[in-house]
Amino acid sequence: MPLNSLEHISLAYGLDHYSLDEPYRLMLRYSLGKEPDFKELGKYTGKEVYEMAYRVDRFSFPTLVNWGVNEENPDIVWLDPMEREVIVNLVKNLGVNRHPFEGRSWHNHYAGIYLIGDPGLACILTITIQTAYALFKYGDKGIRDYYKNLSGIDEPLWGATWFTEVQGGSDLGANETKAEKDEKAWKLNGYKYFSSGAGIADMALTTARIKGAKGGAKGLSLFFVPRINASGKINYRVRRLKWKSGTVAVPTGEVEFIDTEAYLIGEPEKGIYYTMEDLMVSRLANSMGAMGVARKSYLEAYGYASIRSAFGKITKEHPLMARDLLEAELKVEAGLALMMKAISLFDEAWHDEPPYTDKYHYARFMTHIAKNFTADIAAEVSRTAMEVFGGIGFLYDFPIERWHREALITPIWEGTSNIQALDMLEAMWKKGAHKTFLEDFEEVVRSQEDVALAEEAFNVIKDTIKKVEEKPQEGEWIAKWALNRFARASAVILLLDISRALNDNTFAEVARLYNDMAFYNNVRVPEKSVLESIISLRGTLSGIDWKEKVKV
Ligand SMILES: Cc1cc2nc3c(=O)[nH]c(=O)nc-3n(C[C@H](O)[C@H](O)[C@H](O)COP(=O)(O)OP(=O)(O)OC[C@H]3O[C@@H](n4cnc5c(N)ncnc54)[C@H](O)[C@@H]3O)c2cc1C
Repeated sequence: MPLNSLEHISLAYGLDHYSLDEPYRLMLRYSLGKEPDFKELGKYTGKEVYEMAYRVDRFSFPTLVNWGVNEENPDIVWLDPMEREVIVNLVKNLGVNRHPFEGRSWHNHYAGIYLIGDPGLACILTITIQTAYALFKYGDKGIRDYYKNLSGIDEPLWGATWFTEVQGGSDLGANETKAEKDEKAWKLNGYKYFSSGAGIADMALTTARIKGAKGGAKGLSLFFVPRINASGKINYRVRRLKWKSGTVAVPTGEVEFIDTEAYLIGEPEKGIYYTMEDLMVSRLANSMGAMGVARKSYLEAYGYASIRSAFGKITKEHPLMARDLLEAELKVEAGLALMMKAISLFDEAWHDEPPYTDKYHYARFMTHIAKNFTADIAAEVSRTAMEVFGGIGFLYDFPIERWHREALITPIWEGTSNIQALDMLEAMWKKGAHKTFLEDFEEVVRSQEDVALAEEAFNVIKDTIKKVEEKPQEGEWIAKWALNRFARASAVILLLDISRALNDNTFAEVARLYNDMAFYNNVRVPEKSVLESIISLRGTLSGIDWKEKVKV
């Protein structure tokens, strides 16, 4: 008998979350040309990571230690020992954060975030790779090499990104933190109101305004701040930790800079550009994390619908329940298809520097779309999954309610959904990103077998762009509507393209059914075998004996 496990309260626990996710594995094959081997990561995220995240959420919150036996305040956060082990293992042994710095695709990194799913834990890895990214691209000699520790190439260290201040997170231009240089170093004074990784980060990136710089976002510079200053003292204070309704695995605190020693990243007047680049890294992570939340919720729901009976039948066999599962899975596959595109575009653009090329603007445009779209999917699929569980779905006893709570952070942090929509508009109006978008998708549409459906979806894109262009004064009013249409129509086209490239008819069927749902609010009844294939992730889930799995 195993000593304590989640076996009896979770259906997703203990499975290899990579191997059974056939749609995602096929999409990776489509994007990378061949499928990477994440079996070990799949097993680890389905077991140890899964259990740890559940445990931390309920019983083992990060704790701020702000008084030590030597009468000094260490301002550190004490993490659950299992959490410490898991994050080190993910970075050091499973190498989630090192891929791009060793010349591999960002798909490999984001696969890790997707498989982890838990936004708190994924956040720790994300703020660390964001710090590595900025140092790798723009860090001076003395600090650049820390990227090797932050990516796990060398002994792991932990990073963080602190931009938000009390007077505005969306409005970064309202930042009040000041930077001044004395004869030795840059000194920062200010207060960062949402600081994830506070108390565990060895170093952080932060925004500040150099004395005399202009106002607004363009006057911000980006700085690197080590936890310990040159004299060996704590370089900033952690005022308190936030009491949050999710993301518990990552401590989020308030950080105070008092003559904090800092190092300038790159050129002072380009700080906001570096910050936006860094946010692209985390917005893609947020999107893949959101898809991870949706996928974990789906696994729980499918498993439960396979063991629970009502009216003499397994609930999965009731048509309405099958439709719930189908619609949830269509959303997951649409979201993943869009993510494949967004990450591939980032792969091509991430070495760009300001002033950027069109391919960078296009990658940013698609990132804004992906961030909104996937956050909605996480919320919707986790909500459906809770409902699939009936009454126990609402209970704190079972993991499914946590996934819904976790989903709800994804439209907020890393820039809210409104901000993504506004930034998408900006990428269209000021950078013409939609022109590259149109050219790229036109080419994809032309190569499809189901040209009629591809063209129908492409017309949605063209028509939406026209509406945005026709009435620029209404641009903000319709920005989210436009973003959503771009996302859904792109997903249809991309699913068709995956089907074409892999010669896989099920993806074409997914594209058709998703199109029905997304644009006609109706899904025709698919053939039984097609329905079964889609909701069981191409048969991998129907191969599991769910009753046996949860047997006492
Ligand atoms: C758990 C957690 C961890 C976080 N960790 C970090 C971190 O590590 N580092 C960091 O820098 N930040 C962090 N944040 C902050 C987060 O990024 C911000 O909360 C977020 O960007 C929103 O900013 P805000 O809270 O100031 O909301 P506000 O900017 O006050 O926005 C409030 C509402 O107004 C809307 N709004 C604002 N402007 C407009 C507009 N022009 N048009 C339409 N609507 C608008 C927003 O969409 C939102 O709905 C964290 C937040 C949370 C909850």
